[in-house]
Amino acid sequence: MANVVDLRSDTVTKPSPAMRQAIANAEVGDDVHGDDPTVNRLQEYMANLLSKEVALYVPSGTMANQVSIRSVCEPGDELILDETTHSYNYETAGPSALAGVSLRFIRSARGVFNGTDVEPLVRPRVMHFANSRMVIVENTNNVGGGSVWPLEQVRDVRAAADRHGLHVHLDGARLMNACVATGNKPADFARYVDSISICFSKGLGAPVGSIVAGPADFIDRARRFRKMFGGGMRQAGIIAAAALYAIQHNVERLAEDHANARKLATALAELPGVKVDVDSVETNIVIFDIELELGGAANFAQKLRERDVWLLPTGPQRLRAVTHLDVPAAQIDQAIEVFRALCTQPSAA
Ligand SMILES: *Cc1c(COP(=O)(O)O)cnc(C)c1O
Repeated sequence: MANVVDLRSDTVTKPSPAMRQAIANAEVGDDVHGDDPTVNRLQEYMANLLSKEVALYVPSGTMANQVSIRSVCEPGDELILDETTHSYNYETAGPSALAGVSLRFIRSARGVFNGTDVEPLVRPRVMHFANSRMVIVENTNNVGGGSVWPLEQVRDVRAAADRHGLHVHLDGARLMNACVATGNKPADFARYVDSISICFSKGLGAPVGSIVAGPADFIDRARRFRKMFGGGMRQAGIIAAAALYAIQHNVERLAEDHANARKLATALAELPGVKVDVDSVETNIVIFDIELELGGAANFAQKLRERDVWLLPTGPQRLRAVTHLDVPAAQIDQAIEVFRALCTQPSAA
């Protein structure tokens, strides 16, 4: 395993020795009763970081999004989101199954849209229609290849939402990547949205957990739905300690992951049979296409895997590589060598 370059996702990161020490030392209590001091410390830290009234620790990014949707929407309401959005594509139809909402799609470039994309999708408040209730912004956008929202575009969506009384939720699973890439602070993005979530278990390197933050009345509802969805946790300080460690120690270093992603993309762009837009690599995700002579993406991924480079196909000719704290720069060089061998001898692929 030591040799494996695991670029499948930034979720594969494992707790470091220092993080494990923080886990071992965590003070705990029963968080369903509100008495886990470490969970409380994490929630206060995150509310403060995001300049939101209250924050709630939840087991996953999926739950963060789903309790947010359920807290705002009633069955028959409508959610407006880009067709790439995680909460639609990768959360097992949660919005329909758990909140009974109908979905209306924006089709934007790489999941980054404007207020003018939202407004035509808002339904008139007439008896025949669903109630347009909520908009989701995803920053960075995963399917868009880690694309970053310029702050002005979040503000623009906020302004459009205000004209129609819509709640704006920011799925910031990788918000800290967006912050490191732009120099904006988390609160700069958070101020334009009603609710916001961040994952600790992606590039921040914690084993479990996400935060959702917003106004007190929203979080009261979110806490109730967290319990309903089975996310009420007991001595959760054990994992909250890792989340606190992650947010306090592993943010600035995301810049290394971004540099590694760019280095990988730049090298791939020079190889025969690979198509990648290097300028689109803004954070830690590289999406690239391979030409037919290299075979299909699944076959290509298998050939890479045989050479200890792991990544995921995301389409018939498309693959995704994600950099993170368990892939040092030397492993990027190792991966580039493997790509070079496969692409320059297509018979090997
Ligand atoms: C990973 C991710 C989530 C959360 O996914 P989990 O599998 O529940 O951790 C939510 N939104 C985005 C954009 C993600 O990339």
